[in-house]
Amino acid sequence: MDKKNLSVGVDLGTSNLLIYVEGQGTMFNEPSFIAIDKATGKVICVGFEAAKLVGKNHEKFDVICPLQGGVISDIGLIREILIFTLNKIFSSEIHTIQKLLICIPSDITNTEKEAIIKLGHSLGIDNTIIQQEIKAAALGTGVDIFEPRGHMVVDIGGGTTDFGVLSLGDVVLSKSIKIAGDFFDQQIIDHVKVMHKIEIGLQTAEKVKIILASLTGSYPTNDDDDDLVYEAMGRDLITGLPQSVMLNTKEIREILLNCFDPIKSVLLSALEETPPELAGDLVDSGIYLTGGCSQISGLREYIEDIAKVPVYLSETPLTAVVDGCKKLLKMTNKYFYSEV
Ligand code: ADP
Ligand code: MG
Repeated sequence: MDKKNLSVGVDLGTSNLLIYVEGQGTMFNEPSFIAIDKATGKVICVGFEAAKLVGKNHEKFDVICPLQGGVISDIGLIREILIFTLNKIFSSEIHTIQKLLICIPSDITNTEKEAIIKLGHSLGIDNTIIQQEIKAAALGTGVDIFEPRGHMVVDIGGGTTDFGVLSLGDVVLSKSIKIAGDFFDQQIIDHVKVMHKIEIGLQTAEKVKIILASLTGSYPTNDDDDDLVYEAMGRDLITGLPQSVMLNTKEIREILLNCFDPIKSVLLSALEETPPELAGDLVDSGIYLTGGCSQISGLREYIEDIAKVPVYLSETPLTAVVDGCKKLLKMTNKYFYSEV
């Protein structure tokens, strides 16, 4: 039997699953989708291949996201998606994994934490450890969380927006709200339905968000300096026929500003609840933004205006958690809890 010597880090995101292998790099970075054969219950595919099947409504398979709204909807599916991807990366060499670090959302229950650790054990990896995503995201963004001063990180992903105040290597305060990328997409769908009487799909709505979204400042423009527009394809609700609609940056900003109201409230309450010494530190150390939706144009200025402290964007918003895993795996086990 091959030697057990590999360390592996997993970012189990609502939208994207990333797997880092020490010494080899990020070996998997694909959407967190799994397609299951309805008749046999067998996994057909995961990641990009499964994402292509979303909305195709095939009677033979289900396409599922095992983490919905940052909540573990089905631990069995998480097991399946992990086994499938680890097998893809390691062929039949899963037994060479010596250490498995799984990053988890801050507010999952102790029972869910236990289930994740047991899952690692059931794969034959005794040294399975869990760590809070927000801590890994902070480290991956380059924040020195071990120094004796306060730092704040806001991670805006697919299912949740997570807030963390960190100091001396610990998460001192964390908050999570189920308003993030998926919710923005749904709000765009609802808006197009009501205002343009056209139904667009989730993937189209996501494209609209990525291309047109902005929160403050001048509206995104094209190469000719004209305001951006996007032709979204959908179905006319009145005629039932395929139809396209031109969407512009102004209407998308309005939708997003509404979506961000609750995010703003949670940010303000996180700042209010931060112990005074650490809150004072934020004036210098600022707030770091990460996660896929931190790329929304004008977000930095929007948060700066609310918090009145410097705000910085992660340079690698989609990989910050897995980059943090890389750092955490190098550290000793004293920073982890492998038992809950
Ligand atoms: P998770 O950690 O929940 O898996 P990610 O941090 O991977 O989430 O972010 C995924 C979200 O980021 C999706 O909602 C996706 O549409 C959104 N996203 C990705 N790129 C951009 C972009 N350039 N602008 C706005 N949103 C983006
Ligand atoms: Mg994430």
